[in-house]
Formats: sequence, C-alpha cells, structure tokens
Amino acid sequence: MTHVIKVVIPRPVWQAYDYLLPDSLSSVDVGARVRVPFGRSVAVAVVVEVATRSEHTGQLKSVETVLDRQCMFTPDLLRLAYWLASYYHCPIGTVIETMLPTEVLRARPLIVEPDFEWMAVAQEQEVEFKRAKRQQEVWELLTKHSAMPDAAIRKWGAVRSVLNTMENKGLIRRVPILPKYKFKERGIKPTQEQETAITNIVAELDNFGVHVLDGVTGSGKTEVYIRVIKEVLEQGKQVLVLVPEIALTPQTANHFRDRFGSVAVLHSMRTNLQRFEVWCRVASGEQRLVLGTRSAIFTPFKDLGLIVVDEEHDASYKQADSLRYSARDAAIVRAHDLNIPVILGSATLSLETVENINRKKYRRYHLSARPGVAKLPKFQLLDIRGQILQGGMCHSLIEIMRHHLDRNGQVLVLINRRGFAPSLICHDCGRRVTCQDCDVRLTLHEYPRRELRCHYCDRRYEIPDSCPDCQSTRLVPIGTATQRVVETLSEAFPDVPVRRIDRDAVNTNRKLEQTIAAMQHPSRCILVGTQMLAKGHHLPNVTLVAVLRADAGFFSADFRAAERTAQLIVQVAGRAGRAEREGEVWIQTYDPEHPHLESLAKSGYAGFVKTELISRKSAHWPPYSHLALLRAEGINSDEVSAFLEQLLTQVQFTSTETLGPISASIPRLSNRWRCQAALVDSNRKRLHESLAKIARVPMQRSKIRWSIDVDPIDMS
Ligand code: ADP
Ligand code: ZN
Ligand code: ZN
Repeated sequence: MTHVIKVVIPRPVWQAYDYLLPDSLSSVDVGARVRVPFGRSVAVAVVVEVATRSEHTGQLKSVETVLDRQCMFTPDLLRLAYWLASYYHCPIGTVIETMLPTEVLRARPLIVEPDFEWMAVAQEQEVEFKRAKRQQEVWELLTKHSAMPDAAIRKWGAVRSVLNTMENKGLIRRVPILPKYKFKERGIKPTQEQETAITNIVAELDNFGVHVLDGVTGSGKTEVYIRVIKEVLEQGKQVLVLVPEIALTPQTANHFRDRFGSVAVLHSMRTNLQRFEVWCRVASGEQRLVLGTRSAIFTPFKDLGLIVVDEEHDASYKQADSLRYSARDAAIVRAHDLNIPVILGSATLSLETVENINRKKYRRYHLSARPGVAKLPKFQLLDIRGQILQGGMCHSLIEIMRHHLDRNGQVLVLINRRGFAPSLICHDCGRRVTCQDCDVRLTLHEYPRRELRCHYCDRRYEIPDSCPDCQSTRLVPIGTATQRVVETLSEAFPDVPVRRIDRDAVNTNRKLEQTIAAMQHPSRCILVGTQMLAKGHHLPNVTLVAVLRADAGFFSADFRAAERTAQLIVQVAGRAGRAEREGEVWIQTYDPEHPHLESLAKSGYAGFVKTELISRKSAHWPPYSHLALLRAEGINSDEVSAFLEQLLTQVQFTSTETLGPISASIPRLSNRWRCQAALVDSNRKRLHESLAKIARVPMQRSKIRWSIDVDPIDMS
C-alpha cells in the first residue's frame, strides 16, 4: 500500500506538506529526514506524520529518498517544535530550521562512530606472522598494552590497512571508548542551605517541577547543580546544563570536567561539524552530560533526566531574530513534557520567576550567604551633585580607589558604554554629530584610531574639522566611556596596570580569558569594563567595585530597563570580596534618593524586586500582564506606521489592549524607519488568540518587514 507522509520543510512555511512514499522506498518513521522535490529544487525535510490518505486534492509528489533509518528528531522535540510555532507565532518551517544544526539540514548521515581503542584478542596458539612484519609489530605492541586508542596507535605508526587485516583475522578487535562519569568530592562539604536544596530536589527527580535556586553571588549554586547532577548520572540518565554566554563556557566546562571527568560542550562558535557530532553522540546516549548555550535546548536526548538553567535572568537566553524564543521557557516546556525537573539558578532572578515563586508555581531554595569566610560586599551611594568630575569620576571615588590599591586590592570599574566619549558636540551652536544613516549620536573612539563610530550600524567617520552648521572649530567630546576612564585612571595611578574589557578591547574569547586569567594574580590592578564584567567571572582579588552612570537605566522608557540595570549592578558587585578579603561597592549617582537605588543600597536585589513589582503591577506590565511586540520597518515612515495600524485593526473587537503604533526608540536605523506596537492582555490565552489573527496577515507591501515578539525583553 502506498503511504502518504506529511513533512515540514525548513523554510518559512506555515504548514506541513503531503508527499507519497513509493513502495520502492523502505518505511519511514516520524522524526526521520527525507529528501523531497520542493518548488523547482529539492529540500531536506522532517517527517511529522505518517498517514494513509491525504486531504490534498491535487496530484502528490513522491519522496525522493529516505535519509534516516532511525529517528533523529525525537518525539519530544517534535512536540516542542509545534509548541514553539504556536507560542511564538512563527512558521513551523522556520522553527525546524532554527532547531536543526546546519549539517542535519545538509543531509549528512546521522551515524557517528564513538572513539575506540584496539585490543589484542587472546589466541589459542602462538601466532605466526612470517613476513608480515608490520602486523607482528602491532601484535607485540598490543599484547604488551591492555588497549590502545586508535589515534595513539596510528600515531605510533600503524596504518589503517594493517589494522583492518588483523581485525579480519580475529587477532585484534575495537572497543568503543565511552565517556566515564566519575564524581570527585574535591573536599567540598555542602553548607546547610545547599544541603536543603540538594535533598529536596533529589527527592523530586522523577517528576516535573521548577526548582529555583535563589542564591547570592558566590553562594555556591554550582555546587548544588553538581550534587543533583551526580544523582541523575548515577541513574544512568542524561543532563543538560544551559549557560548564557559563550565566554563562560570554558570556565564552566573545566569546572564540570574536573568534577565529573567528562562533559560535552555545545555552543554556536563551534564548527557546524563539531556541533553535529556532539548532537549525534547525545542522541545515541553516549554523551550524558551536556553543557551549552541557548540552542543546546534543541539537542535530541535519548534519556534526559534534568535540565539546569544557570543565570536564568540573562537576556541572551532570548533569541532576537527569526524564531524569537526564550531557551529558559523552552526548557521548562520540554521538562514538563518529559516529566523531569528543571533547576533555575540566579542571584538576580527575573521578575517573572519571582512572581511564579510567589504564586507557588515554582519552588524556591535560598542560599543567603557565601560559604566559608567570604562576605557579601556592602553597597554605598556616592552623591556627585555639585562635584567636579575627572573622566566621569569624582575626587572622593579616586581616593577610595587609592585606598584599596595601596592595600594591594584590585579595583573593578563598571561603565556601560564603550568608546571614549558618547558624543561630540559643537561648543558654539550645540549641534551633536550624528550618523547619516541612523538617528543616533556618534561615539568618539580614541583607540585603536581616532574616529567617530555609529554603534548601531557600525559605520565609521573621520572627525570633522568644523561644525557642519556654524563652521565653528570648537568640537568637544561630551560624557565619558570606557577609554576615557582608562586614560584618566592611568594618569591618576601611573604605576598600576589598567585593563579594559569591552567589545572593542576583547573581541575574542581568548582575549577575554587572558584578561580574566591575568586578574587571578593577587597584585594590584584596575579593570574597566562594560556589562561584560558582570558575567559570572571569578575574580577573588577584587576588593572594590565602582559603578559609574549605571543608574541611567533607571530613567529609561523601556519598562524592563530598571530590572536589567539592577541585575547588572548586583552582578558586577558580586565580583567583589569573593575570597578572604571583604569587598566594597560604590555607586556614583546624581540621584541618591532614587527609590531603586535606595532599596538596592538598603536591602540589595530583594529590596529592588519588592519596589519594582509594585510599580509593574500598577502599570499593568508583565509579570502582571502578557505582552507581545509588533515591530515593522521600511523605507517610508508613514507606510510603516500605516501598516501597523492596519494590523491592529484585526484585533480591534477583542479585549486585548493595543498600544501604538509609535516610532521605535531609534526611529531610523541603516536608513530604515522603524515603528512598533504592543498587544497586552491579562489573559495569556486571549493574547494568543489575538496574535493568531495577525500572525498570518500576508505582507501588504513587500517593502515592509515585520515581526511578532512574544514576551519581548528588549523593547527598543
Ligand atoms: P555562585 O555560582 O553561586 O556564584 P559558585 O558556585 O561559583 O557560586 O561558588 C563560589 C565558590 O565557593 C567556588 O569557589 C566554590 O568552589 C565554593 N564553594 C561552593 N560551595 C562550597 C562549600 N559548601 N564549601 C566551601 N566552598 C564552597
Ligand atoms: Zn556649530
Ligand atoms: Zn548608523
């Protein structure tokens, strides 16, 4: 009997397509790949259903080849794909395309041999090699050693053909090398709080549940993950650990390797082939402990038993284009589907997670202190009203730094702007130099060369000799950014090394690792950087953290900016006082009475969360409502706005509230005009019904690009 199969093609298509599976081809499973004719070309597609007939009335095309015998898209991933498509209102074809590594889409076969070693097979009689000298050498080598990895024996000089001949004669055989997971204590004894979290989570390993590890920076959250992971591995199951940043993976990977002996690493910087190989080894069940960034949530596991999401608040879990998914939320959905637990950990929980704890949907474990002697740093505000600033810093801040440096402490300075000065202004007419393609001011850079740069489209400009409006030659840099802070501090402390961490100074992971490694040496130095500083690095010798201008985020129009700013300040502060020496945090501000700053200084992140949740509630923002953002851009600003207006009319008779359209915070980027509108509803289901009305609206004017962002985290 001829079968009909439904396949999803990894292109922006909304539905599955029907094809005939001719008798000449073997049967096929859901989740396998097939090659099918599509339009005028062929495509690799994923089978989502095997049926006996089709609703399609036209003539069906036939499948060309079946690529997989076993299924490479596990049933739970397929369910996740459909969930993502409906939740993010994204074509199922785009979802599948996002989930699969490139090599899978290129039809590479799925089988990856495990690494193996050679062993001699005991013989009943003495083996005679006669003139086969090469074989004799290999035989002598292998009878001396118990086993030798293939790579080692080839390096020694054995060629493949000799080994194969001997294998065929039954003299030697290959044994797969599987990763071994052997747990090492490393002399760490969990604290009482860690123990509570570990026992409670371990008791729930057989069920879905979201366990939140709310632990201050340096409180040993990783140790809790490790102890729970140990139990899951001992049950023979697999574990996925998600981390937000590639920059963190080497550090974290080394840590896990040290404790378990083996860990597979998946992140987007690895080559396609490497990613694909890890993917296969996880699918086969060979690799059981996987550490990865966002897209690792799409790895097919044979028997997944636990997902850990470290730094769950981190914005990089959300993809900013195409399928705008949150890997944290996808992790929870996948865990629910598999009936396994998830651990979310952070020192600065997202407000969504806090609200889910308050509603008793998630369980919370608190790690309130750092183990051993390390103490949490104190926050202090430094009022700079009326003070003279030098490179953006007041005199007393420089004196505080001197105090720490004199005692051989290290100093961290957070200034969340790269470059030398954020704008160049005409001293006579007040004109600021802006980008020709975008509505933004140009940033002055002094290093590696003096120029103006647009931080949005990356266009670079020579520094003009005079003002284009009034021809004055008095153009002056206004404000401060990382390079200027470095310059000022190098002058103030000529004998102290000053390092810089921002996207310009450390554009590779290796450079970042080198800078962080240099800081491990307990000699005095200053590190100036942007938010790159905040990412979980361990800097045990830092005793002072100074925050410049970070409070600017408390005045932004984006309702999430305050949350992001508080998280940034607390995370950077968390780098201080991680070892024996106590740390201090100073926040320079023009606005010391700001409620957010006051609550942060008085009661830390928890204090901030309390005040911020109240204001979110009164403004009806998430987590007290559900939100989706519609963004559109095109070459004519009126057309873009009119287009969004028209989209919104689709939901005008529903109870979903609409906001906008309004210009985006940067109305023009790379010469395209940008507008946005928002849909808000207290009922999630209703919001999705409204979005469904819009999602498939065909593009009226092909010149306009538009998108839906569900649960946006960046409102710009
Ligand atoms: P977090 O991830 O919560 O910021 P880490 O897991 O990096 O904190 O832990 C900070 C440091 O404390 C690490 O060096 C870790 O080895 C150490 N540590 C964790 N738990 C304990 C413990 N129970 N006793 C002693 N040291 C611990
Ligand atoms: Zn001028
Ligand atoms: Zn620009």
